[in-house]
Amino acid sequence: MTMQITIALTKGRILQETLPLLAAAGLEPLEDLGKSRKLIFPTNCEGVRLLLLRGVDVPTYVQHGAADMGVAGKDTLLEHHADGIYEPLDLGIARCRLMTAGVKGAVLPTGRIKVATKFVESAKRHYAAQGRQADIIKLYGAMELAPLMDLADEIVDIVDSGNTLKANGLEAREMIAYISSRLIVNKAAMKMKYQPISELIEKLSTAVAQN
Ligand code: AMP
Repeated sequence: MTMQITIALTKGRILQETLPLLAAAGLEPLEDLGKSRKLIFPTNCEGVRLLLLRGVDVPTYVQHGAADMGVAGKDTLLEHHADGIYEPLDLGIARCRLMTAGVKGAVLPTGRIKVATKFVESAKRHYAAQGRQADIIKLYGAMELAPLMDLADEIVDIVDSGNTLKANGLEAREMIAYISSRLIVNKAAMKMKYQPISELIEKLSTAVAQN
């Protein structure tokens, strides 16, 4: 009997870099993921199927065993308090940095500061480690706007080329974490489906090394 393996993928930018890696490991969806509204996709490997999810939902599916494995950004994993997940492989894709940023040249007030971000947990840890009192304001997008509108003194956001910050008169300040996408595996699935999962990790690891 072939074992079912379900792999949860993150939509968007990460997906574009994940598919070539999966293909190099011998795994390809039977139809174009970008052209379909479906969320479950069979593959050329019997029993292996792909789910297409928002990045924030990938660790949740894997933690609960609704997917056996997944691909998620480290930024997302840092926000998700997941027991029950292994992170066996850095896929080395969708690389960027999680950083603090603020209005270019502006000096931070002494004492409490306001920080707007989507990455609440990472921000809390960063400012706490510095012994700085920060009121964290949760946003879901366009973080760059917050310092310009005086909603916040700083933001914590993802920086790649730095062009988004620059275009808005902001500067990157402190580095919080290097980010890339990771392969995650449900701990129980790793035991129950050891053979096919470890084979896939092995193949992906070779694909990453050659990427
Ligand atoms: P950039 O202008 O190149 O610094 O890109 C910054 C913006 O692109 C950020 O605000 C993010 O929303 C997005 N971004 C860049 N790289 C990534 C990534 N690897 N994962 C998620 N978002 C990213």
